[in-house]
Amino acid sequence: MRVLVTGGAGYIGSVVTEELLQDGHEVVVYDDLSKGHRGAVARGAGLVEADLLDGVRLRRAFEEQRTEAVIHMAAASLVGESVENPSKYYRNNVLAGLSLLDAMNETGVRRLVFSSTAAAYGEPEKQPVEESDPTVPTNPYGQTKLAFEHALQWYEKAYGIRSASLRYFNAAGATPACGEVHEPETHLIPIVLQAAAGRRAHVEVYGDDYPTRDGSCVRDYIHVVDLARAHILALFVLEERSAVYNLGCGGEGYTVKEVIEVARAVTGRDITARTAPRRPGDPAVLVASSEKIRRELGWSPQFQDLRAIVESAWEWMQSHPQGYGD
Ligand code: UDP
Repeated sequence: MRVLVTGGAGYIGSVVTEELLQDGHEVVVYDDLSKGHRGAVARGAGLVEADLLDGVRLRRAFEEQRTEAVIHMAAASLVGESVENPSKYYRNNVLAGLSLLDAMNETGVRRLVFSSTAAAYGEPEKQPVEESDPTVPTNPYGQTKLAFEHALQWYEKAYGIRSASLRYFNAAGATPACGEVHEPETHLIPIVLQAAAGRRAHVEVYGDDYPTRDGSCVRDYIHVVDLARAHILALFVLEERSAVYNLGCGGEGYTVKEVIEVARAVTGRDITARTAPRRPGDPAVLVASSEKIRRELGWSPQFQDLRAIVESAWEWMQSHPQGYGD
C-alpha cells in the first residue's frame, strides 16, 4: 500500500515507517521536523519537510505519491505543556488535523489511522480501561486528541473517510535503528536510563502517596514495535469499517518505582530515586484493556515483559550516545 505517515520522523512514527517498509509498503513521511529528526526517517522512505497547515503542499504530496492511506502521528503530546499553552495544542492537534482531512477529502484518500491517547479517558473510573468507558479528558492534550476523534466520525458520515483511532498507553523501547529522543525529555523510561548512564544525577518519582501498591503511579508500558504493528493491522481493517482501539499490554501495569528497579537490574547501574511532588494531571493508574484489538485484529504484543522493553531502550541509548546527532 502507498502510505503517507505524518510525524514519521518522530519516535513512534519512525518505527511505524520502518515496519511498513519491512512489509513492502511504500512510505512518504510528512514532517516539519520541529520535533522529529531527519536521521530517524528510515532509508527507503520519502520525506516531505512541510507544515500540515499547508494544504497545497499536502495535496501535492498525496497526488505525487498516489497515497492510498494516511497514518497521522504528527502532534504535540505533552500533558503539562498543553495546560500552559492550549493554543499550540488546538493548532497542532485539531487545526492541522482538519487541514489534513480536507486535503485527503479533496484528493480522494479515504483511509486514516490516527494516533490517539489514553489521555482521552481522563481519570478513569475503573481499570483496565475499555474503549466504551467515558472519555472525560482532564487536559488540552487529551481534549484535542478526542476532538479530532469526534471530527473523524463526522468526516466519515459526510465524506466517507474511514479511520482507526488507536489510543496509546505508554510507548517505550526501541529498535536497533530508532529510539526515543525528546528535548527536553519528560518520559519516565528515558529519564531513568539517562540517570543510569550518568547523564542526570537522579530520578524524581512524582508522588509516592497514590493509592497504588507502592504509592507511585501505575502505567501500562507497550513496546514501540508492538504499537507499530497495530497500525499496520489497523490499515487493513479500514477496508471494511472504522474503529477505536486501546493499545497497551494490560495486566497489572508497573509502578514508577518498579520501572526504576527493572532499569537497575537491566543496566547493572545505581539509579538514585527521590520522591518529588505529584505531577499535575497524572491519574494514579492507567492500564488498558486491549481485548478488543486482540479479538478483532488478532494483535498481540511480542514484548509483554517490561525488562525486554527497557533492555531495548538501553541498547539504543548506548549505541546512540548523541541521539540522532542533530
Ligand atoms: N514520572 C516520574 N518521574 C519522571 C517522569 C515521569 O515519576 O521524571 C512518572 C509520571 O508521573 C507517570 C509515569 O512516570 O506516572 C509515566 O510518565 P511519562 O511522562 O513517561 O508518561 P505519561 O504517563 O505521562 O504518558
